[in-house]
This record gives sequence, structure tokens and C-alpha cells, in this order.
Amino acid sequence: MERVMRSLQIVVTGGAGFLGSHLVRRLIAQGHAVVALDNLQTGDRANLSDLLDHPRLTFLEHDVLEPYDLPCDRIYNLACPASPRDYQHDPVRTTLTSVLGSHHALELAQRTGARLLQASTSEIYGDPECHPQPEGYRGSVSPHGLRACYTEGKRCAESLVMDFHRVHRVDVRIARVFNSFGPGMRLDDGRVVINFVRQALTGCPLTLYGDGQQTRSLCYVDDLIGGLIGLMEQTDHQGPVNLGNPIERTILQIAHAVLEQIPGGTLSYLPLPGDDPRRRCPDISLARSLFGFEPSVSLDEGLAATIADVRARLGRATPTDDSRIPRAPDRTTSLETEQNG
Ligand code: UDP
Repeated sequence: MERVMRSLQIVVTGGAGFLGSHLVRRLIAQGHAVVALDNLQTGDRANLSDLLDHPRLTFLEHDVLEPYDLPCDRIYNLACPASPRDYQHDPVRTTLTSVLGSHHALELAQRTGARLLQASTSEIYGDPECHPQPEGYRGSVSPHGLRACYTEGKRCAESLVMDFHRVHRVDVRIARVFNSFGPGMRLDDGRVVINFVRQALTGCPLTLYGDGQQTRSLCYVDDLIGGLIGLMEQTDHQGPVNLGNPIERTILQIAHAVLEQIPGGTLSYLPLPGDDPRRRCPDISLARSLFGFEPSVSLDEGLAATIADVRARLGRATPTDDSRIPRAPDRTTSLETEQNG
């Protein structure tokens, strides 16, 4: 068992989601007592199935749009749909979850004196003119585009976090989480790695949006979770800190990396969704200097673990054919693209 410090009472909102469930598992392994909150809108109780009987885990089905009260030393506020498909599905709810959910978590931190980490996002940089993105870059964001519900919701949440810090002296951390991947992501989550792996394993063409030349930097989930905990426990910095892997790749390169491990697949080009950033890569100098953050899992190693997990889950699922997996909504048609076009 990894044990880093005295046993803490820790609340994780979004604890049944992709990152949340990995975080809960790591915190339990470190010897802490964890309350995982999730409304199961995009999270899945099955993500915690191995832990549901654990004496130090309490799972509460709860929507962070409603306040909650729990004793705690630490709060990781992760609750919010995070994939473009999910957060655009009910955009009004996404904004409210980000803003009201953060407000409720901050009120709990204020009442209990707990330290709070807000999961923010690289999306707050929008379609960046500055590359790679350091924390000081203020972003290039559409306030009314298809991604605004998430982007502006998360930007407002950062503002709330810093105001609770300045006005109410709440001890805060802000993690700007860049693209992450790994085992346990929902098969219909819609993000690029899970789509490509599922498509390759089910004999479907890999769906490349646009020309595939847009870039992302993919961080394996274990590295990212280490970053979240490292950031929470360092005591030198309360402002935003980038967390992600600084190796940038085109989406086409990512498709080829998947096909190297699952040969025989083909590519299918689809229109680029509205508001899709062209480039994204974190400057992680601050996280490196604060707590020695250094992602260590390569894309190929991470893909191998992800492929093994998806293969196992597809094998268990009935029916198994890809056509039964829900399709992404058409993100290329929007008021904005119609107006601009
Ligand atoms: N993408 C793609 N095919 C897919 C899913 C995503 O080409 O099946 C592209 C998407 O247009 C974006 C990038 O991959 O440019 C990353 O998308 P994702 O939804 O994973 O996250 P984002 O970084 O856009 O929030």
C-alpha cells in the first residue's frame, strides 16, 4: 500500500467518473477515508465496483447542484461532464454543474476548513494563440460557441475559487487538466482515444474529424492522478497549475498509434466539430517546479493498457457490435456555424 501521510477524510465529487474513480482508488490505496459523490449522469457505479464494499469508501448518489454537508479535510471537486459529447448534450446543465457545483464545494470547504482542489481544464485556453500554453496565458475563448457551456462554466468556477480564497481564506488549488486517457472511460464517452480503440477493435473505420492535423497532448490517467494528488498536497501555490503530458501529437498520429497495436483498420474523415481547438499542449514547468510532476507512461504503454481494458469490456458486453454504441451528436451544425458560415 502507498501511504504518504496521515489518514485524511476526503470528498471526491464526480467520484464514479473516469478521473474520479481512478483518484478514489489511489486515495483508498494511500490509506485515506473517501466519500465519493456522483449523480451518475456520466459516471458509472461499475467504475468503483471493486471498492464498493471497502470499509473506507462511502459512495453517495448525489447531484452537486444541491448542497451537501460532510466532515472532511480535503475536497476534490471533479463533478462535471468532461467529454465534448457529454457536456454539449445538456449545455445549460453543464454550466450550472460547473458553477453551482463549485459554489457548493467551496461552501463546504469554508464550513469545514478543508482544502479544496478544483478540476479546471485546458479548455479555458480555448483555441490558443500561444503555444504551448502556460498558466499566465488568458485564452482565446468563444463565450457563446458550442464549447462555451464547459469553457465558460470552468472559467467562472476558477473565478469563484480564487474569490473564496481571497474573501473567505479558503485553502485552494486549481488543476488545469489537459487531455487524459486510460482504462475505465465509458465506451460511448466520445473522446478521441476511446473512440479510436473501440472502433479499431470492432472493425469500424476510425473517425477522424477534420483533416486530423489538429493536435492534442495525451496524458495517461495514472500520471494525471499523481499530478492531482501532488498538487493538492503541495503548500506553495494556490493559483492554477497545468497538468498533462507535454508531448504533442496530431490526431492522425494518434490514429496511427492505435492502428499499430490493432492492425488492419481504416480511416474515415468527418467534418470538424464547431469550436474544436487546432492545437493544445501544456507548459508544465510550474507543476515540475512545485512538486516534481513528470508524466512517465508513454503513449504506446498507455494505449496497450487501454486496449486491454476495452477488449475485456467489449467481450463482456452484449451486444458487442459497434453499431449499438450511441453515436456522437452532429457537432458541426450549430447556430454559430450557421451564422458564421
Ligand atoms: N476527434 C476525432 N475523432 C473522434 C473523436 C475526436 O478526430 O472520434 C478529434 C476532435 O475533433 C479533437 C480531438 O480529436 O480535435 C480531441 O477530441 P476529444 O473529444 O478527445 O477532446 P477535446 O480535446 O476536443 O476536448
